[in-house]
Amino acid sequence: MPRPICATIHMGALKHNLQRMRRAAEGRFVWAVVKANAYGHGLLRAAKAFADADGLAMIDLCDAQAVREAGWKKRIMLLEGFFDESDIPLLEKYDIETIVHNRPMIEMLKAHAPYRDLKVHIKVNSGMNRLGFLPLEEKVVKEELSRIKGVHVMGVVTHFANAEPSYLSEKPASVSKQLARMGKLQDETDVCMANSAATLWRHEVGGDAVRAGVALYGASPDSKISSRELDIIPAMTLSAKIIAIQDVAKGEAVGYGSRFVTERPSRIAVVACGYADGYPRCAPDGTPTFVEGKIAPLAGAVSMDMLTIDITDLKEAHVGSVVELWGKNISVNDVAGYCGTIGYELMCALALRVPVVEDEN
Ligand SMILES: *Cc1c(COP(=O)(O)O)cnc(C)c1O
Repeated sequence: MPRPICATIHMGALKHNLQRMRRAAEGRFVWAVVKANAYGHGLLRAAKAFADADGLAMIDLCDAQAVREAGWKKRIMLLEGFFDESDIPLLEKYDIETIVHNRPMIEMLKAHAPYRDLKVHIKVNSGMNRLGFLPLEEKVVKEELSRIKGVHVMGVVTHFANAEPSYLSEKPASVSKQLARMGKLQDETDVCMANSAATLWRHEVGGDAVRAGVALYGASPDSKISSRELDIIPAMTLSAKIIAIQDVAKGEAVGYGSRFVTERPSRIAVVACGYADGYPRCAPDGTPTFVEGKIAPLAGAVSMDMLTIDITDLKEAHVGSVVELWGKNISVNDVAGYCGTIGYELMCALALRVPVVEDEN
């Protein structure tokens, strides 16, 4: 028997969330972002669930080849483009669109011309200061790329640093400031700017396409707003069973570092999930888990293969009880919030050793 832990991926939730984001996209082309193994949900599984998306966007060329080989016929875009000259022929071979974000990429493209039909998108840095050409450079870059034989400039992409509502607009890189920097580039053809947050909340962001990521997986892009409020459904449930229960006297310590000390006679349950499964080791005491219909708080430091929870007030819990670490009852953003991070990181960090089960709901 494998260890009693699994990640359940809810295919129905992925499909529902895609439809939800399609509604929010209001007629724009929907790229489903499947980078990082589809935020931990499984690349090919996600590609199957997102069959109705207009295209798939990702980072890794190998992933793009894999989805093509698995039968994905629609468009594919590489969000960071190619990293090496040797990647360029594969883009054409597999009909993979790439962004171009810097001058060395243009030089590489020139060196390998001509092409049959190589589709590129110009990445513009509108204020995030990560990838892209300045808005002023776009015209020249476009002309330069268009002169390369066989290169087809599809359009312009940019990315927002802070599209969620809890970001204060007076801070440096608000959506309105980034849009102002885009200026008339917003009206070019095939413009793609919005991520999940901008698609959901920033109706002033236009364009012809959106790139939806985290919301497709049922996690809110803004940790202060719940999935339920957004009508998206968590698509990953991480659960594990209780494998032991300790009756511990008052004043005893639990686990490494003796961080948790009982203030009363306590029942401590040991759960078959540790940081080697992707549960964050930095989770503090009190981080919620869900067992037998109730919340049980983490009690003691997370170990590599186990964690401990306080079930003193939970008479129903027994060896074999299933504990939800995150999913429909405990939001991944909530757990992440206790750890000072975001749900994205926890979903992506789901470890390879965790068995994955697909369900239709
Ligand atoms: C990851 C990513 C997205 C998707 O962002 P979400 O916040 O997950 O919706 C969109 N565009 C780019 C360039 C990205 O890297």
